[in-house]
Amino acid sequence: MAQLSLRYAAGTDIGRRRRRNEDSALAGPSLLAVADGMGGHPHGDVASAAAVTALTEPPAPGDTAPGDPAAALAAAVSRAAARLEEMAAADPELREMGTTLTALAWDGAGFDVAHIGDSRAYLLRGGDLFQITRDHTMVQTLVDGGRLTPDQAANHPHASTLLRALQPGGDQHPDLFRQDAAPGDRYLLCSDGLSGFVPAGAIRDALTGAARPEDAVARLIALADAAGGPDNITCVVADVSGAAADPAHQEPLLLGAAAGRGSRARRT
Ligand code: MN
Repeated sequence: MAQLSLRYAAGTDIGRRRRRNEDSALAGPSLLAVADGMGGHPHGDVASAAAVTALTEPPAPGDTAPGDPAAALAAAVSRAAARLEEMAAADPELREMGTTLTALAWDGAGFDVAHIGDSRAYLLRGGDLFQITRDHTMVQTLVDGGRLTPDQAANHPHASTLLRALQPGGDQHPDLFRQDAAPGDRYLLCSDGLSGFVPAGAIRDALTGAARPEDAVARLIALADAAGGPDNITCVVADVSGAAADPAHQEPLLLGAAAGRGSRARRT
């Protein structure tokens, strides 16, 4: 099988109405991730930064079987959950914090995906946009049960109420699955500051019309900003290429709360 490689870019923006950026993101040659600190709870920025940072740390000896990337990703998410538990145990102020986490680990042929919460991963393939993660929200459950249409869910007052998140004492069980890649695929990871306010058709058009991942990131953030920027906006875009990895694009990017100073920082 031919080895594929990723071209990636990422950006985050505080938006127009929030006082701090509680999103975090990571984009590197082998790992893409978005985490969104839970709104309405204190210290979402601490939670998202801790979750993303924990993903970057090497596993403890004996933590996973070598050569099993799916198990390694699952172990990394468990490590992130354990980190939040430890922090909450040490500081009661952090007990209520929580974060979403959507992480894609790349192995040259596809991704192992770990997902909890309502950040999203999408695939643009052949001009069509597919949402490959499923929101862990109350309204998604109502949509699945035929009690709400997707449009009603998007505009529901409790649209962002999470059923699962990385949260001390909560249901921290992530969805884990495999996503095989093909040359020409374009993947998007985003926080709900994009997907909650920009319709899927506009996301698809922005992804289709942008030549490079960095152009796509800039377009998507501009769309969420034009929609009023009610929330922090974070996007990671990665293209699957049949060419060898570009050594100039191998540096992992850490953004938002995980970068220390979130605010309007934007790197691509
Ligand atoms: Mn958000």
